[in-house]
Amino acid sequence: MRFSAKVIENRETEDEHVRTLVLQPETPNFTFLPGQWVSIRQPLAEKEVVRAYSMLEPDRLVLCLDAVENGLLSPYLCSISPGTVLQVAGPYGNFVLPDPLPKHLLFVARYTGIVPIYCMLRHLQGLMNPPRITLIYSLPSGAPLFVQELTAWQQSWPQFQLELIEKGPQHREQEVLTRILRQEPHVFPMIAGINDFVKPVRTLLAEFGYKRGQYAFEKFG
Ligand SMILES: Cc1cc2nc3c(=O)[nH]c(=O)nc-3n(C[C@H](O)[C@H](O)[C@H](O)COP(=O)(O)OP(=O)(O)OC[C@H]3O[C@@H](n4cnc5c(N)ncnc54)[C@H](O)[C@@H]3O)c2cc1C
Repeated sequence: MRFSAKVIENRETEDEHVRTLVLQPETPNFTFLPGQWVSIRQPLAEKEVVRAYSMLEPDRLVLCLDAVENGLLSPYLCSISPGTVLQVAGPYGNFVLPDPLPKHLLFVARYTGIVPIYCMLRHLQGLMNPPRITLIYSLPSGAPLFVQELTAWQQSWPQFQLELIEKGPQHREQEVLTRILRQEPHVFPMIAGINDFVKPVRTLLAEFGYKRGQYAFEKFG
């Protein structure tokens, strides 16, 4: 489905490079599943640029993105003014919660890869009997995106465990993932982030015997 959506709010986040855009779809029919994304089509410097952005919240059209250095669209979107109308298409994507839900979900995200996963977490919070959830969340140094909120969830939400990797050697997430996969051989992993992050995680899952279909992933580019 193609539709226009008006920017209602362009909010800062705790990370200076990341903004949250609240959009008002100019159609009553827009619904989506947590984990899905929309595409934004924008004419920029005489060419049309189309990029994908995942929904941040389960019940309204909210996007969350970082201004990629020398990127075509993301710096424009991060500085967009309320009232601007964007051309949107979607929802798209199969990076959604499995049905039925497994006993233990293992989310693995890096930086803005948290966006579709945060949306799923918000949905899971509303369930009567959510499964056990572990989130391995890796962040560049000095980029505390959603850290306060996720840390607070860990205190108040018994099913939720956060493994935060704020900096340090790149193989840290592999270590944490290895430990969890050894302890919990039947988790359902869901991975999101740029390809350089997703690829080694998938390689490790393959070493543990995971085949396509036994986990889900979303590559951001
Ligand atoms: C299914 C899907 C969902 C996505 N959801 C989100 C989301 O929720 N939030 C979000 O911020 N992004 C998301 N992305 C990434 C987004 O679509 C764009 O790729 C990103 O905003 C960069 O676009 P750009 O036009 O600014 O940069 P481009 O002009 O496309 O790229 C400029 C340079 O930056 C590199 N690059 C591209 N993307 C990234 C990145 N994410 N991080 C670092 N370097 C990059 C490119 O390789 C290139 O060298 C998603 C991508 C996909 C495929």
